[in-house]
Amino acid sequence: MTAVNRQILLVEKPTGKLGPEHFRLAEAPIPEAKDGEVLLRVRYISLDAANRAWMHGATYRSAVEANTVMAGGGIAEVVSSNAPGFAPGDIVFGDTGWQDYAAVRGKHLTRMPKIEPMTYLLSVYGIAGLTAYFGLLNVGRPKAGETVVVSAAAGSVGSIVGQIAKIKGCRVVGIAGGADKCRWLTTELGFDAAVDYKSGPVFKQLKTAAPNGIDVYFDNVGGDILEACLPQMNLFGRIACCGAVSQYDGTPSSHGPRGVPGLIVVKRLTMQGFIVMDFDSQRDQALADLQSWVASGQLKVQEDVITGLENTPQALIGLLAGDNRGKRMVKL
Ligand code: NAP
Repeated sequence: MTAVNRQILLVEKPTGKLGPEHFRLAEAPIPEAKDGEVLLRVRYISLDAANRAWMHGATYRSAVEANTVMAGGGIAEVVSSNAPGFAPGDIVFGDTGWQDYAAVRGKHLTRMPKIEPMTYLLSVYGIAGLTAYFGLLNVGRPKAGETVVVSAAAGSVGSIVGQIAKIKGCRVVGIAGGADKCRWLTTELGFDAAVDYKSGPVFKQLKTAAPNGIDVYFDNVGGDILEACLPQMNLFGRIACCGAVSQYDGTPSSHGPRGVPGLIVVKRLTMQGFIVMDFDSQRDQALADLQSWVASGQLKVQEDVITGLENTPQALIGLLAGDNRGKRMVKL
């Protein structure tokens, strides 16, 4: 056990693009677990596009504030417990923040199974895998033979969405930034086609990649890419609104999507937002399916693990810029 608790503080909320100057490495005493709390040693910190969205204000959680430990989910080991149901050595998931140790209320923690590799608890069996599963199957409701398009397709959620859609017998098109990511989607993950949004207009590229139109659009990015997908939706198509990463960092540059109401009416579209927690009651079934697909080799797990707490700010800045492939996390 190190004698101090290293922490990454958010020292200032960014008004433009997030940069290293918005964070500071600090040291504090290791906290004690008060009544109802558990002392945790953090093993892996989850890097999520939403970390940046939390800086704008309250979302499905309260906003992160300046001069506090940067919030973030993590996989941690119980060091000591003053909360019922937790014992030293247990593995849990919770909002540990970006630090070596955290004292967290037991009721805010989820006990996790001891599996190898432990990283799967953040990727395929964590928020990323469950978001992909519920968003696609419960909100997108794809049928075999339909065309599914997913944006941020080489990221943690998107790469799993596309593979599940393939398992369900759909034609799958991924939208991602750069030729390498697009090649990886088609050659390694089995996507039928990929569109590089950085190489030219998405609308035009989708005409070729999805010649029969789009039945399900899994939207991770919002903005112009959503605007390009909307007119190509088929009658009674479904748009699963998962996130809007194009709008999170800096001043939103996008003017899209325009023409939404008219298109929704004429094409009888369903556009539904969701948060992964909405489907907590179906978690066991989702995990069973994900585990069987991983075991059978139908679902490949791509992780992007960076080492060292001090590298966490740059890991998030890089994720927002598209440096990651698959689930990004920091190992402590
Ligand atoms: P991620 O997809 O692993 O990484 C973010 C990716 O977004 C980057 O790799 C980058 O890939 C892409 N991106 C960044 N700026 C973009 C832009 N302007 N236009 C298009 N693509 C852009 O991150 P994640 O944490 O898994 O998040 C993915 C989405 O899921 C986010 O919108 C997030 O908020 C959402 N999410 C929602 C829930 C929920 O419960 N609703 C839960 C988890 C995550 P490129 O190289 O392709 O640009």
